[in-house]
Parts: sequence; structure tokens; C-alpha cells
Amino acid sequence: MVSTTAKLAALGGQPVRRSAWPSWPRADRFTEEAVTEVLRSERWTISGPCASNPPFERRFAEAFARFHDVPFCVPTANGSAALVVALEALGVGPGQEVLVPGLTWVACASAVTRIGAIPLLVDVDPKTLCMSVEAARQAITPSTAAILLVHLYCMLGDIEGFLELSAATGIPLVEDCSHAHGAVWRGRKVGSFGAVGAFSMQQTKVLTSGEGGATITSAPHLFDRLQQLRADGRRYSAKRVPGTSELENVGDQQGHNYCLSELHSAILLDRLSHLENENEIRRKNATLLTNRLQGVNGITALPAITPDVQPALYCYCIRFDGDLLRDASVDNVAVALTAELGISVGPIYDPLNANQLFRPHRASIAPDSARAYNPEEFALPVAEAARREVVAFPHRCLLGGSEEIEDIAKSVEKILTCKDVLHQVPA
Ligand SMILES: *Cc1c(COP(=O)(O)O)cnc(C)c1O
Repeated sequence: MVSTTAKLAALGGQPVRRSAWPSWPRADRFTEEAVTEVLRSERWTISGPCASNPPFERRFAEAFARFHDVPFCVPTANGSAALVVALEALGVGPGQEVLVPGLTWVACASAVTRIGAIPLLVDVDPKTLCMSVEAARQAITPSTAAILLVHLYCMLGDIEGFLELSAATGIPLVEDCSHAHGAVWRGRKVGSFGAVGAFSMQQTKVLTSGEGGATITSAPHLFDRLQQLRADGRRYSAKRVPGTSELENVGDQQGHNYCLSELHSAILLDRLSHLENENEIRRKNATLLTNRLQGVNGITALPAITPDVQPALYCYCIRFDGDLLRDASVDNVAVALTAELGISVGPIYDPLNANQLFRPHRASIAPDSARAYNPEEFALPVAEAARREVVAFPHRCLLGGSEEIEDIAKSVEKILTCKDVLHQVPA
């Protein structure tokens, strides 16, 4: 129990936790050996001269495809590039529309504007915080060319609902799994349900090489386009002549240089071998935390872990009852929790209809100028309510044991005990 005279650490009191958290990102001797192998080779990129071994990029792609039980993977320089090539491979272009959840990282919408297409911002489902299938159905127009479902934070989108919607309308589904590497829905890994699965391996993600990305698909024609889109119109040749480039010029597509470097690929190939185990640890700890928070009034733990839904837990989210916060905001709560725990706890993303980072008209390619495009015109009441009430703990919090879980629970109880002074915490 937290004493009723407890003083918030953010207001000069004693913090709940002083010890270090499990480290992130992670590297061990094997990661170092893999990176050293690249450094000592004469091939730092897939376009460099080929040697006797296949490049790490190709080895990672094969391992990541196998991990998802799909035939194809094309790595990319980052997750934003993965989204761009996924949409372009599906033929999305200027004037067409893409359904994008109103609550997600800005890159989901900016990838759409980057190719001259129009992101239609769709409200989320209050239970999952992922795009609502009903709202998506209502947003579809004759110009809608793709649906971008993002599996967000600690939950998965309504895969069944979106597969039905995609089948009924013929509009392809792209799954953004940047928060869900290795998450499983009904026994199958996410990213393998849509026409293309897209991933970011940026530093905060549960599989990372600092910067990095990947796309996966089961369709050979999409695989061919994705390869060319990410390597300036080139793809791996069937012939390998040591000392020369292994890429052949094709040019069916106008591509980009979005290639993942050999250094990044070596890190990802090594870290992939830990992902399944780390996901298990996160799920075990998330279940412990949710059970521990069961009796705490005024909050709801959001992760839904069921036999059907096994999230990767990029973040652990807690929702604070709006009435309870009164004069305080969830931003005060996040600062207070950060001070108690010594780890960065944050509010969730600002919905994209009022997000400082989403500025389509300041982009070098603005969405179809023939149509007025104003993100503020999209109503996102469910996303906005979630933004006012939800905090997200980074996944490192879930990589320890019961001691870490107890500290998180205590800090939440302490915040609630001190709710009358929360508004004084500088947000
Ligand atoms: C991180 C992220 C991206 C963008 O990935 P980058 O590697 O940063 O370009 C896209 N979508 C979601 C949901 C993300 O979290």
C-alpha cells in the first residue's frame, strides 16, 4: 500500500523506483560478431560486390519471411519506406485515397501523401484503439485504393473484420506491424493477413537495428515490385558472380534507394532469434501487471491477451477515468509516472486531425491539389477521448520480473492516491 501522505516524486517526494530498468536496445557478443563480419567484408550494402556468402540482407529477409510463414520479405531502410513501397506496389498513386487510422504515428499518413495520395483519417475502436472496421466501411469511396490497418501499442486490430471488408470491396489491406513484430492472431503472425505487411525496426520497436524496416507478402508479383521499388528498379539476379554486384537492372518500376544496409541487416538477423522469447516475457509480465491492477479503482489496463490475440506489447497502456483526473490531464499523469519510475512514460499519439507533425500542405508533394485536403475536417472523437485518458509504458518495463511489475503497480496507486495535486505537476 502507498501511504496517504505520499508525496509525488514530480513534486519533490521520494520516487517509487530508483533501480535501473532492463536495457533497450540490446546487443550481445553474437550481435557484435555479426556486425564485425560486415565491417571486415567488402560488402556493406546489397549493391556492393558479392562474395561467397549471401548478403545479410537476404539472410534476414529469408529468416523474417520464414518467421511469418510467408514466402517473401523485402527489407527497407526504415518503416516509413516500407509503407511507401507497400502502397506503391499495390498501385496506389496520385488522387487515390487510403484509409489511415486517426490514431497512429505520423508516418502512416505522410507515407500516403508522399506518393500523392490522400489519407482519409478513420476513427478508432475504443476497445482496441486500432482503426474501427465500421468507421472504415463508412469512409470508403470509389477512389479508395488501400486500407492501412495499424496494430497499435498493446492490441491488435479487428483482423477478421478487415479481411471481410477487404474481400467484400476488393480494396487491398496493408498491415502496419511496427508495434506488433511477432504478434499472433488465431495462431498466425500478423503482417501475413494483408496483401502486404509493413514493419519499422526503429530503436523503440521490439525488433530493432536503430533504423530499419521490412515488408512481407505472399504474392510473387508484389515481391517483384517491392524489390524494385526499394532498390532503384533493381532486384536480386539469379546469377551471382563474385566480385560484381548481385543486383540486376530491371526498371519495371521507378524505384527509390530504400535499401537496408548490411550492418543493419546483420543486427536484425541476430536480434530476430530473441524476438519470440522476448514477446513471451512481455506477455507474461503484462498479464501479471493486469492482474495486479485488477482491483485498482479509476483505471483500466488495456492489453487484451487471449488465446486468439497474442500482442507483442510495444507499449503497455493504462486508461485513467476522465472524471477522476478532473483538473489534471493525462500529460500530468505521464510526467508524474515518469518521475516515480525513472523511465519515460508518455501520453499516446496526438490524433492526426490535430497533430503538429502532420502537415500535408507543407510537404514537397502535397496530396492531390485539385481537392482541398484539411486533416482538421476529419472527426475522430474516439481517438481524441483516448488521447485524453491513456498513458503508455515502454516495452522495456515488461522485460524484467515481478519486482518491476510491482513498482509499476505501486506508482499507479500512488498517482491515484495523490490525484488532487496531479494538476500541479508541470506537464
Ligand atoms: C515507427 C512507426 C512507423 C515508421 O517507422 P520509421 O522506421 O520510424 O520510419 C510507421 N508506423 C508505425 C505504427 C510506427 O510506430
